[in-house]
Amino acid sequence: MGQHTFRSIEQAEVEGKRVLVRVDLNVPMRDGVITDTNRIDRVLPTIRSLAAAGAKVIILSHFGRPKGKRMPEMSLRPVAGKMDELLKSTSVTFVDECVGPEVEMAVNSLENGQVLFLENLRFHPEEEADDPEFAKRLARLGDIYVNDAFSSSHRANASIHAITSELPSYAGFLVAAEIAALSKALELPERPVAAVVGGAKVSTKISVLNNLAKKFDFLIIGGGMANTFLHAQGIDVGKSLCEADLANTALEITRTAKEAGCEILLPVDAVVAKEFRAGAQSEVCALDAVPGNSMILDVGPATVKALNAKIATCRTLLWNGPMGAFEIEPFGEGTFALAREAARLTKAGSLVTVAGGGDTVAALNAAGVGKDFTYVSTAGGAFLEWLEGKDLPGVVALRVT
Ligand code: AMP
Repeated sequence: MGQHTFRSIEQAEVEGKRVLVRVDLNVPMRDGVITDTNRIDRVLPTIRSLAAAGAKVIILSHFGRPKGKRMPEMSLRPVAGKMDELLKSTSVTFVDECVGPEVEMAVNSLENGQVLFLENLRFHPEEEADDPEFAKRLARLGDIYVNDAFSSSHRANASIHAITSELPSYAGFLVAAEIAALSKALELPERPVAAVVGGAKVSTKISVLNNLAKKFDFLIIGGGMANTFLHAQGIDVGKSLCEADLANTALEITRTAKEAGCEILLPVDAVVAKEFRAGAQSEVCALDAVPGNSMILDVGPATVKALNAKIATCRTLLWNGPMGAFEIEPFGEGTFALAREAARLTKAGSLVTVAGGGDTVAALNAAGVGKDFTYVSTAGGAFLEWLEGKDLPGVVALRVT
C-alpha cells in the first residue's frame, strides 16, 4: 500500500450507521451572513453520498477562534441553515452542543439519510488540546468517522486526530481530491514544473521555499518576499517591505536551489509608489532604479512578460501567494496577468495548475480565473505545510499502511 492510500468512504458499509463527518466550515461571514459558500459547496458531495447510502450523517466543524468558550457570534447555526438550503434533497437539523446528553438524544432520533449538524467544536478547549477523553465523547455519537476537512488536517485536534483512535476512519471526497491534486503537483509532476511563491514575507515560507527549491525546476518568487531576495543581492529596495535580517536565509535558499538544479526567477522590474493606498500615484522602474522614497508594490510588465514566457514552457504550475499588493488598485496587475496566462495555458491543455491559500484564491477570483485552474485547494495553512513536505496529523491518521 502506498503512502497516499486511504480508506475511502466508498468502501464503507454506511447504511443505518451513524457517520461522524468532520468538515471545515469556517466560512467567511459578515454580520451573520455567509459571504462565500465555497467551503460548504465542496463538502456537499460527501454528505449527499453518505445520506443517499442510508447513513445517519452527523456534521462536526469548528468556526472562528472562540478559545474554548461559548461565544454566540461564533455559533454554527447560520452555517447549518445555509447547508440545509444548499443540500435540497435532505433536511439539516441543528443542535446547539457537540457532546453530551442533548446531542445523544438528537442522534438517537436520527433516521437513515438524515443530517444532524452539531455546534462549534471549539467552544470546548479540549478540541484544540487533542484531548483523548473529549475524542471519546465525540466518538460515542458515531459508528464511523470521516475526515473531509483537509484545511484543518494540519492541526492535531481531537476531532481530527485523537478521534481516529476511537473509530474506523475514512477520507471523504474532498480530502481525497485535495491529496490527489497536491500529490500530483508535488511528488510526481509532469515536468518542467514551476512554483510561484509570493506574499508578504520570506519568514512565513522559508521551509516551503527550501522544499520546493529541492524538487522543482523553476521557483518564481514575487510579492514582498522577493524584496528580501533582491536586497540580499545588493539591490536597494527603497522603502519596500523587506526582511533585511533574512538576507542570509535568502542566499541559502538560492544556494540550495542552485545545487538542486532549480532556477530561481526574481522580478526584473517593479511598480513602485510612495504611498501604500488605493489609487496612489505609481510608476514602473527597473530594479536598479527604485527611488529611495518608494515601495515596490507589484512586479512590472517586463517581469510579467518573462514569467509568462517561462510558464508557457512548463507542464505543471503550483501557486501560493500573490506577486504584489493585489488588493490595492493598481497593484494587482502583475498577479492578474500571470494568473490569466496560467489559466489560458490550463484551458489549452498544456499546463496543470494547482493553487492554494486564502490570498491566492482571492487573487485568482479577482483576476476572473478562479474556476479555470486545474485545482484550487480549500486550504491555507494545511496547503503550506504540505508544500513544506510535512506529514499532516489528520492525513497520517487516515493512511492505510
Ligand atoms: P501572504 O499571506 O504571505 O501570502 O501575503 C499576502 C499579502 O502580501 C497580501 O495581502 C499582499 O497585499 C501582500 N503583498 C504582496 N506583495 C507585497 C509588496 N510588494 N509589498 C507589500 N505587501 C505585499
